Formats: sequence, structure tokens, C-alpha cells
Amino acid sequence: MIRELFALEGGHCRQLLALVDRRSPRLVRFEAVFLALHHAREGWILVDTGYGEAFAPASARFPQRLYRWATPVSGTRSTASLLRARGIDPAAIRHVILTHFHADHIGGLAEFPQARIHHHAEALAPLQALRPLAQVRNAFLSSLVPSWLPDRAHAIPPTAFSRDAELPFPSHDLFGDGSLRLLELPGHAPGQVGLAFHSPAGPELYAADAYWRESQLRLRRAPLPPALWFQWDRAAYLRTCSRLADLYSSSHYHLSACHDAGTAARLNARGRPS
Ligand SMILES: [Zn+2]
Repeated sequence: MIRELFALEGGHCRQLLALVDRRSPRLVRFEAVFLALHHAREGWILVDTGYGEAFAPASARFPQRLYRWATPVSGTRSTASLLRARGIDPAAIRHVILTHFHADHIGGLAEFPQARIHHHAEALAPLQALRPLAQVRNAFLSSLVPSWLPDRAHAIPPTAFSRDAELPFPSHDLFGDGSLRLLELPGHAPGQVGLAFHSPAGPELYAADAYWRESQLRLRRAPLPPALWFQWDRAAYLRTCSRLADLYSSSHYHLSACHDAGTAARLNARGRPS
């Protein structure tokens, strides 16, 4: 079990909510939430890293600056400093799980050179193979990938994921003790993974960006085309959303997603031992 968890906000962007829920014509904040999970043996584990301190310089020039225009970003700061403010020593982080390589998830990665970096083996190469403009369109800023990553990476091959006993997504038991299962959640980005674990409040399914807002699952509504075009594999994205919507209405898992309204507050309320 994960004994304690923090959900932190690593910057945010503003977007038109109607693109996601098809009904609210207003600009809202989409927080870039990342998690710190406390594992009895492995210590604090990070799940994604927010925009971090590297996002601003990485998006200063063209064509990368287009990313800021498409999704105006603010509130970015050092991910390590956000952890320190919660009493977590960033130098003691031994594991970082990257759900996918979009800039709002890897911006703080360079701040953790001592950690082992876990990610799906098919998450990075397809983005690195794109031309620079296509990389920006796919929310990937290559300079955010530290030069040391190949030495620190644990790239998990698809063959390491197998049928899950409880969930309709192939899973990989990261530490071999059942405490943290990575789930293949295809569609949003290449090799995207989510997580299944037990928090002090019960079973959790953290879906990363497999959906953005709870209304997508509750109302079974796909995002409007501009937001749908942004997905790496639209058919797979819609299939994954549909399976998550089934779980939302029937499972005992608490579902959460990185950019949903109130995610950090809800997870923080579930993350303390009672
Ligand atoms: Zn994403």
C-alpha cells in the first residue's frame, strides 16, 4: 500500500472548457498536477514532474514558443522547491514515473538526476522522431529530456504488461510487491501509462491525461474536434475513455486525472493516514 500521498500543482495553463465538455464557453485553469507517493521500502516516488523550472527557457524560442501561445502557461516554478515546501527532500527521490512525455509532465525531470526514471518503452522514441514543428503540436519539447536520461531510464517493454486481475487495461507490477501497477492507457500520447494503487482511503486509478475532466466520463462525451485532434491516436483515446467511463459508473476504484478540476484537493484528502 501507498502509506501517504501528496498531489502538487506544478503550474497551469488556460483553455476553453467547451473544447472538453462541449458546453461551457469559458476559459478555465488546467492544473499540471504531479504526485508524490510514499512507499514503505522505496521512499517517496514521483509521478510526473509538472512544468518545472525548465519549461520557460525551453519554450522561449520558435517554434517551441507556439506551445505557450496555444496553451498560455503560468505559475511554473521549480518542482524540487514544491516538494521541499511539503517537507520532502528532492535529493532523496529514488524513483520518478513518467506517465508520458508531454512538456507539462516532464518539465521538472532535469531536477532529479539521481532518480531512476520509469516509463513505457514506446513513450519517447515516436515523439523524438517527429520534426520540430510536429513535436510542438504534440506537446513535446525535446530540450526538456535531460542528456542523462538513457543512463537512468527503466524503459518498460510492452511484453512486461499483462492482463490485470481487476482492471480492463494491461498492467505491470513496478516493484513486484503489488503496491503500484502501471496501466497501459493508450491514445492520448505514445506509451501513456496510468497507475493503480491503494491510498489510505482505498483503491485509486490515476489516469494521467487519459481523460481531462470528469464530465467526459459521466456524460460519455468526446472532446470537440480541436481537442480530439491533439490526441496521438484518436480511436485508441476514445476506446480508453469508454473503458474508464464504464469503471467510473461501476467500479470501487476512485478515478482521478491530472488536469481535472479539484484533483489535487481530492487526492490530498485521500492521501493521509486516518
Ligand atoms: Zn498530456
